[in-house]
Amino acid sequence: MSSRYDLVVVGGGTGGLVSALIAAGAGARVALVERDRTGGECLWTGCVPSKSLLAAAALAHRIRHADAVGLTPSEPKIDYARVMDHVRDAIATIQPHDSPQRLRAAGVEVIPANARFDGPGHIRVDGRELRWRAAIIATGSGPVTPPIPGLADSEPLTTDTVWDLPRLPRRLVVLGGGPIGCELGQAFARLGSHVTLVEQAERLLVNEEPRAGELIAARLTAEGVDVRLGSQTLDVRPRRDGAHELWLDDPPAGEAIVFDRILVVTGRGPLTEHLGLDTVGVNVDERGAVIVDPRLRTSARGIYAVGDVTGLLPFTHVAAHHARVATPNALFHARGEISQTVPWVTFTDPEVARVGLTESQARERWGKRVIVIESDYQTLDRAITAGEAYGFAKLVADPHRRLVGATVAAPAGGGGDRRAHRVGRARREDQRGLAHRARLPHVRRGTRARRRPAPRCPLFDPPRPRNHPTGARHPAAARARSMTARLAQAVAFQRRPVDAPVPSIARLWAHRRPAQAVRSRRNGARGIDHELDGARDRAQPRCAASRSTRRTFTITGPWTMCRIPRPGLARLR
Ligand SMILES: Cc1cc2nc3c(=O)[nH]c(=O)nc-3n(C[C@H](O)[C@H](O)[C@H](O)COP(=O)(O)OP(=O)(O)OC[C@H]3O[C@@H](n4cnc5c(N)ncnc54)[C@H](O)[C@@H]3O)c2cc1C
Repeated sequence: MSSRYDLVVVGGGTGGLVSALIAAGAGARVALVERDRTGGECLWTGCVPSKSLLAAAALAHRIRHADAVGLTPSEPKIDYARVMDHVRDAIATIQPHDSPQRLRAAGVEVIPANARFDGPGHIRVDGRELRWRAAIIATGSGPVTPPIPGLADSEPLTTDTVWDLPRLPRRLVVLGGGPIGCELGQAFARLGSHVTLVEQAERLLVNEEPRAGELIAARLTAEGVDVRLGSQTLDVRPRRDGAHELWLDDPPAGEAIVFDRILVVTGRGPLTEHLGLDTVGVNVDERGAVIVDPRLRTSARGIYAVGDVTGLLPFTHVAAHHARVATPNALFHARGEISQTVPWVTFTDPEVARVGLTESQARERWGKRVIVIESDYQTLDRAITAGEAYGFAKLVADPHRRLVGATVAAPAGGGGDRRAHRVGRARREDQRGLAHRARLPHVRRGTRARRRPAPRCPLFDPPRPRNHPTGARHPAAARARSMTARLAQAVAFQRRPVDAPVPSIARLWAHRRPAQAVRSRRNGARGIDHELDGARDRAQPRCAASRSTRRTFTITGPWTMCRIPRPGLARLR
């Protein structure tokens, strides 16, 4: 039996769900093939469980350190089983949002099966053949376990299996000091495990500003985590008492770390095996990630890829952003491109929020002429009043004084969910603005579009192609225009509350409050705005930098008010 679809989506995680719902909302005939559970990694084994665990751990930590704000500290009673009930409750509450029922109600045909491409225009699912005009690959990624001798025999945990732990491990080794290793290592330590965090690089969070990694290492150590940096793992050996030893070749002599459980978070690999990509000519890189261009097109005509499977930024909101770009491209031959300025957050304490380039990445491009401004939270009034005066904010500008990157590593540096909800609500209400952000030109006269456009920063806001997506010159334009309103609604509808990082690098204004900045610019103050806009996504902040003749820069976010003094500003002028 064979069925015809406008779009077939392979994989029902965030990228696949959002793609399918947008397509159905625009009136396309769409099938979503999912071999396991719709919701994907984010719902079942990623953001939702990890952030639920982190919430419990953070509260335990606050209770222990209540004296920071003048309360009597105490040791919280931690019942791990009940903490895991909270984790499961969170999943169960969110699950209907990603369920097959919701998809079907929206007009998506959900096919529970393993999908395999079978030549151009064909996908095989359980003996049935689906025929498509366009297809989106959204099969995500999976944990990769390094080939360490003896590791497999120690029943290593991964992010897929750690949520099934019946009890809190007394001695836990976390192998890998990336974002997930740091988040989970800190959470388990705060809940009562003795955690050893082993990282082969010389610092944690290697992709972030070095100072952020140092800050996290210092905080973890202060909380009792045994942080081992620059450590090569030799092998894992069983002990007579049922525990295991991890041998490190720490110079001068090797050393053994005894553990009850080991959590391996050394990396993730894209899931492209057995997809039959060779039958349709989709190229993958050496890791197996699907190679895509900025429009998320693969090397095969009509096939797009979104989310973790592309090997680009592995975040839920990025997968959703990809879906919003790829779906109109796939259905309407639009020409949307992915944003280079999507921010992300590592939800450790302190959180590490980042958008754009680090200082060293900027120096690779512009050398010594890069302008860097840093501000510490030790002297920040708001941080002092909260009893959490640690962390920093860092801005990186190019030689033309244009903001090209920002990092906030501080408590609540990644912002809060309340703000995410507010952004989401505002976006639903502002259909016109949203349509504008979704690059639908016929509704460009919304409130946002009427504002005077800010000068473009070429790195973050490249000029739009003249042949605009859904623009008049394109043959698919007529059909696209008739679909735009529904598409805008469909895009607006997609959002998920839990995982949304809202960096408090959200706004950078030239004065204390945005209103003042706007006013002073109206009054003719010299000012430039660079909007670092990851905002085509539900929870993405608008990140703007302003320059003016005033003395200070202020970063404002959920509770960030970071004044950058005049000497720094003088360099930006
Ligand atoms: C512990 C942890 C914490 C995280 N925390 C955050 C966070 O706080 N914020 C954030 O933004 N991101 C976070 N992430 C990352 C986030 O979970 C992923 O980036 C996101 O889920 C990727 O979505 P996706 O749609 O690309 O893939 P997935 O969600 O992995 O979905 C892929 C789906 O495809 C299905 N599939 C695979 N092959 C086939 C096939 N052949 N046929 C049919 N179906 C198939 C799979 O079953 C799966 O359901 C975290 C990840 C982990 C592991």
